[in-house]
Amino acid sequence: MPDISPDPVSVDQHLARILAATTPLRPVDHPIMDALGLAAAASVSSTVDLPPFDNSAMDGYAVRHADVVTATAEHPVHLPVVGEIGAGNAQLRVLPPGTAAKIMTGAPVPEGADAVVPYEWTDRGAVQVRLDQSPSLGQHIRRAGGDVTRGDLLIEEGTVLGPRHLGLLASVGRAAVSVRPRPRVVIVSTGSELRDPGTPLGHDSIYDGNSYLLAASARRAGAIAYRVGIVPDEPKAFLDALHDQLGRADVVVTSGGVSMGDYDVVKEALAPLGSVWFGPVAMQPGKPQGFGAVGDDAVPIFTLPGNPVSSYISFELFVKPALRVMMGMEPATRPQTSARLTHAVTSPAGKRQFLRGDYDPTDRSVSPVGGPGSHLVGDLAAANALIVVPEDTTSAPAGTQVGVVLLDTGAGGEF
Ligand code: AMP
Ligand code: MG
Repeated sequence: MPDISPDPVSVDQHLARILAATTPLRPVDHPIMDALGLAAAASVSSTVDLPPFDNSAMDGYAVRHADVVTATAEHPVHLPVVGEIGAGNAQLRVLPPGTAAKIMTGAPVPEGADAVVPYEWTDRGAVQVRLDQSPSLGQHIRRAGGDVTRGDLLIEEGTVLGPRHLGLLASVGRAAVSVRPRPRVVIVSTGSELRDPGTPLGHDSIYDGNSYLLAASARRAGAIAYRVGIVPDEPKAFLDALHDQLGRADVVVTSGGVSMGDYDVVKEALAPLGSVWFGPVAMQPGKPQGFGAVGDDAVPIFTLPGNPVSSYISFELFVKPALRVMMGMEPATRPQTSARLTHAVTSPAGKRQFLRGDYDPTDRSVSPVGGPGSHLVGDLAAANALIVVPEDTTSAPAGTQVGVVLLDTGAGGEF
């Protein structure tokens, strides 16, 4: 049975249904550099101590504290130098009593030594050294396990791995880490009027902006985006393209062909399957939506409306939270705030309206950019925020505090 709902569902209901159907992708081991920006699929504990051995914090001389405790500028202590211990070049393992060994920063402290005298307190002698000052017991020695101890929890499951986490994993010797992988998102633009950028336009054609808008959004969300070519408004061509792509898709996103026109190819092709819900969502722009699953592996599919602003906002509201859940992350990503409207706006009753806005953080004001038209890509690119007008608000005068979603910032530095 075609699953076409005539009654609008709310934005929150639609999102809740999507999230209820979405689960994190199966964990995969990635080399640590490939894990940047991904969520750890399991907690990681250390199997080693850091530092792994007692080592010198200074360039100087390893000594036995008891041998040097009396050293002052007036009464220096002289000790024979029995060797040199370099970082990564440490032949001398034991320091005999009554001697000193040159030691470099990071080199292992020999057995018996319990302090390091920095060069600055010595004459830097090579055969015999004069020590003008005594370190305290243990001074300038970095103790084994003083930073990280074997068994310490290093990374909690769900942590989004950044440079510091990767540095830590490498430091404890981990070459790979289990993460939620990047979802592979296949993006299909439908519309017989669409042409690729860089090719000539006919009198009745337009360029396909959406597949770029959506692919870039998917990539910014951390996914891998596959932009499939334009598909004309023919159900067979659409279904063929879809089935060709399913093998490499964790998610399919289509644009266009879901409203009430005569050639709404996505709806026409998918509604008979019964596995995709189509219906109005009480929002503007972006009213016609579809969500479900296709193919033997029940790949999730989002069928977004074709108007570019509708497509973008639908991706923001519905697709991106799902991608984040697949990646083991919190669904919400954009910072939200409230701001003072600089100009009056109106909004249809019963719909949540998303107007494009220019948010000014210095006085926390927001100005509408362009009109509500869902084809206005110039204004969309000029905006840095979405102004959210609730369902029960039909007009808001200048000066009203409104909710604002900030578009140029978000978790993980994405846009
Ligand atoms: P549709 O949802 O297919 O009825 O399309 C709604 C409007 O969006 C129409 O004006 C389409 O020409 C336009 N449109 C559809 N797909 C795209 C696209 N990929 N890029 C730019 N505009 C599009
Ligand atoms: Mg169309």
